[in-house]
Amino acid sequence: MSTSADTRLSSYRQKRDFSRTREPDGNPELRPGRRRFVIQKHDASSLHYDFRLEVGGVLVSWAVPRGPSTNPSDKRLAVQTEDHPLDYAGFEGCIPEGEYGAGTVMVWDSGTYRNLRAGKGSKAKGMEASLEEGLVEVWLEGEKLHGGYALKRIRGGSKPQWLMIKMKDGGADARRNPVSTQPDSVKSGRSLEQIAQEEGGGDD
Ligand code: MN
Repeated sequence: MSTSADTRLSSYRQKRDFSRTREPDGNPELRPGRRRFVIQKHDASSLHYDFRLEVGGVLVSWAVPRGPSTNPSDKRLAVQTEDHPLDYAGFEGCIPEGEYGAGTVMVWDSGTYRNLRAGKGSKAKGMEASLEEGLVEVWLEGEKLHGGYALKRIRGGSKPQWLMIKMKDGGADARRNPVSTQPDSVKSGRSLEQIAQEEGGGDD
């Protein structure tokens, strides 16, 4: 939904609590329903974590070189990449040499998310509007990550740069470091090495 429609519906929305009434909110993105997220550990030319959120029928995607943090003082660079198809969320395996992103892909974390900006009355923003504005706030319910994360765009262009920051809530923990202490797949329990060995095509 366009920002101008969001603006024009703001007084309609302000009068209603869509978690209590079944009246239409005029924007599926504003419904309290949950959508899918996935973080794929990708051992390509350099190791990174692909953070993907289901928005409008695709997976909006960022490559996070150092992976997500549970420490609210960390600001992790997240470079926005091309949207991926929804079924990519279940992909774990090897991308062959010579293909784009060649290397091993693991489902490092997955679950559902809610748009935290959906429930703010006249200031409510759907995910599309949040992406356009450059401020995304989501609540993750994954197996490794829990709670609020903010993504703030700091630079535009063809590869927009964002910062991924843990919000201060029950899921925040400065001492936890799931990227190093929980390195394996939530889908198969495998390590990157095991995935490469079992799906890499046999030569190794
Ligand atoms: Mn990648």
